[in-house]
Amino acid sequence: PKTAYVRTKPHLNIGTMGHVDHGKTTLTAAITKVLSERGAGTFVPFDRIDRTPEEALRGITINIAHVEYETETRHYAHVDMPGHADYVKNMVTGAAQLDGAILVVSALDGIMPQTAEHVLLARQVGVDHIVVALNKADAVVDGEDAELTDLVELEVRDLLSAHGYGGDAVPVVRVSGLRALEGDPRWTAAIEALLDAVDTYVPVPERYTDAPFLMPVENVLTITGRGTVVTGAVERGTVRVGDRVEVLGATVASKAGETVVTGLETFGKPMESAEAGDNVALLLRGMPRDAVRRGHVVAAPGSVVPSRRFTAQVYVLSAREGGRTTPVTSGYRPQFYIRTADVVGDIDLGETAVARPGDTVTVTVELGREVPLEPGLGFAIREGGRTVGAGTVTGIVA
Ligand code: GDP
Ligand code: MG
Repeated sequence: PKTAYVRTKPHLNIGTMGHVDHGKTTLTAAITKVLSERGAGTFVPFDRIDRTPEEALRGITINIAHVEYETETRHYAHVDMPGHADYVKNMVTGAAQLDGAILVVSALDGIMPQTAEHVLLARQVGVDHIVVALNKADAVVDGEDAELTDLVELEVRDLLSAHGYGGDAVPVVRVSGLRALEGDPRWTAAIEALLDAVDTYVPVPERYTDAPFLMPVENVLTITGRGTVVTGAVERGTVRVGDRVEVLGATVASKAGETVVTGLETFGKPMESAEAGDNVALLLRGMPRDAVRRGHVVAAPGSVVPSRRFTAQVYVLSAREGGRTTPVTSGYRPQFYIRTADVVGDIDLGETAVARPGDTVTVTVELGREVPLEPGLGFAIREGGRTVGAGTVTGIVA
């Protein structure tokens, strides 16, 4: 039988972010290696992170890789994204629900466009704590190069300050994911220093465990002989085996309706109850595989009402931040990434009429289908595969 999950330490969700090829996946593998040698988790090699076990076994696409590990004081779920678009989809929409992030910056290359975009988007979606891994420090030789690294560090602190992260106080740790993965003691110690920085700098967030249960669906799997399983991060509340839940977010006509949670697991370990912040798989009684999809929400019955119209405060990304070069006008119809949902919507700018890149505007949105919405909920706006805006729901329009 599988060993049950025992909650002995606070659980936090963190993730790597940063420009492509700066070493996010290598660092993720290195962290699991260093901790596994301390007996605090399982080593997940590089190629298992870029291609998750579920993906390999089930042949489905999961553009998000979760690994788990423990430090002395915490249990972490750590997400690593294969590409920039996946980052936007999963982290920016809040699907990954990061309590903190490790910003990976190559000491050789410094700040690159995605470094800046990830910091901006992290801020927009409420990731309050960032720790910097100045990676590839092994490739920096003494002398002139070392001075360049100091310069990169200053640049990163400035970038963080510019986005309200208090760059002077942010821990910046020089690491080499690659050398740590190879077992080099100097760089193994650097990974330990990075984890200490995460342990101390990223606080345990307040969890709304008493609120009605809500979990955005990230993936749906079928386990032969057992039924339909949905996975995701619990946004709020608590759920126990035997609880009634409702699946929402489909059109009213195809509403999946109520069911009962008949099983709960986290990282392959059964658990009796899951709470806000946990990454879990829920087995749903009698739920047809095609009745539930990524983007739906599993919630305590009656606790949420899906809607199509809402008002929002939207920041239109500037061209420099990777956004549009031309203004947005009413009738603009981009994609909205709300929690795990990806929905088309019409933007009405009202009297503002025109929103230029770099502007913050109040808008009314009409979505192509209903999704559970509430004031305070963050979302990203995408067009042709890139992020062009980030916003927050301010009200629901009946
Ligand atoms: P990602 O796109 O940010 O996930 O980057 P990867 O982890 O895939 O690494 C990109 C490339 O940088 C690979 O060729 C790695 O071997 C290399 N790399 C990653 N970390 C380090 C490091 O600490 N030092 C050096 N020298 N190379 C590294
Ligand atoms: Mg990667």
